[in-house]
Amino acid sequence: MQYSEIMVRHGELSTKGKNRMRFINKLKSNIQDVLSPFPQVTVRSDRDRTHVYLNGADYQPVVEALKLVFGIQALSPVYKVEKNVEVLKSSVQEIMQSLYKEGMTFKISSKRSDHQFELDSRDLNLTLGNAVFDVLPHIKAQMKQPDVNLQVEIRDEAAYLSYENIKGAGGLPVGTSGKGMLMLSGGIDSPVAGYLALKRGVDIEAVHFASPPYTSPGALKKAKDLTRRLTRFGGNIQFIEVPFTEIQEEIKEKAPEAYLMTLTRRFMMRITDAIRQSRNGLVIINGESLGQVASQTLESMQAINAVTSTPIIRPVVTMDKLEIIDIAEKINTFDISIQPFEDCCTIFAPDRPKTNPKIKNVEQYEKRFDIEGLVQRAVAGIIVSEITPVDDSDAIEELIEDIL
Ligand code: ATP
Ligand code: MG
Repeated sequence: MQYSEIMVRHGELSTKGKNRMRFINKLKSNIQDVLSPFPQVTVRSDRDRTHVYLNGADYQPVVEALKLVFGIQALSPVYKVEKNVEVLKSSVQEIMQSLYKEGMTFKISSKRSDHQFELDSRDLNLTLGNAVFDVLPHIKAQMKQPDVNLQVEIRDEAAYLSYENIKGAGGLPVGTSGKGMLMLSGGIDSPVAGYLALKRGVDIEAVHFASPPYTSPGALKKAKDLTRRLTRFGGNIQFIEVPFTEIQEEIKEKAPEAYLMTLTRRFMMRITDAIRQSRNGLVIINGESLGQVASQTLESMQAINAVTSTPIIRPVVTMDKLEIIDIAEKINTFDISIQPFEDCCTIFAPDRPKTNPKIKNVEQYEKRFDIEGLVQRAVAGIIVSEITPVDDSDAIEELIEDIL
């Protein structure tokens, strides 16, 4: 017997009142994105569940991919069989025989939504239970916490059998909380921040500042690869590359060494905010972690934050580096983050950046710049690309391997 579909139970969204269909539709399209490496798979949602039809695809990699998608509470691989008592009996026998181990307990939980069907749920439990005893005389029936709870559902079009209940990722479907711009470097922290924002339903667009020729194509690819890892939790992500060379060269030339970092960050923040506005984002997300480096003292955060009133979400702000690394390893971004490609900030980093920049000084130095023009040119030069779960140049097998 082969699984015909994976039944998906919705998570927290079930409590969301009249927004429910919006949530479910979002989840459905996220699932479709995430399962794009499996072209034969199709997806259908109703109010209570989402059905992922395998159409012959191997169920295991599909389950592994679904386990990561936010907004899913649980998953069950399901057999679809003909609505016929004899077929049901032999199917139940076949399943239980394949699972049986000495001392095993079981129960049959039937549900009949097609009330025309010849047996009601009690009769079904009895008939199918007896069929199991016919082939496995030593198995025991147990109503409370049996080893195997074989669920039988008689619906209009067919009967469905399932016994596995796999925990989903929880969280909210990505996109149901609105959109935010993730400032994504090639480091360890910002991908983790992105993951945590995705978990609460924020649709992220990745904004990456690149300063060629000081930064290499490898650094850019690294940021895109990190983004690709993040698509596994809720589907495709827009990747926005920002040309930052002109600004970095000008800061290097005109600002005192100790303030390079603060000025750089303020430009990044202004540009990200302008991009956010033009693309209808609501918030900015970054990977700042308190006290980690000079740019991340409270004084620095205040100086950098002062250029905008847009809410800035810092999901990892209170975490220790080791806690962040734990998550990075769990979500498989760590191995990419530690690849040795320098990003724009490392290259222009001063030896001794100011840990307590004074806004007054910052504003004084910024008078030397045509801020508006620099920001406008950077925004005009962005390159937007859509990142999907599979890199067209990668083999699909590679992704499957990676998920497993
Ligand atoms: P990360 O590990 O995310 O790089 P970090 O500990 O290196 O963080 P910083 O270099 O101070 O910290 O950067 C703080 C935050 O600024 C990053 O988490 C990221 O959100 C943003 N940022 C830094 N560099 C870039 C960049 N090149 N493009 C986009 N965002 C950046
Ligand atoms: Mg960094």
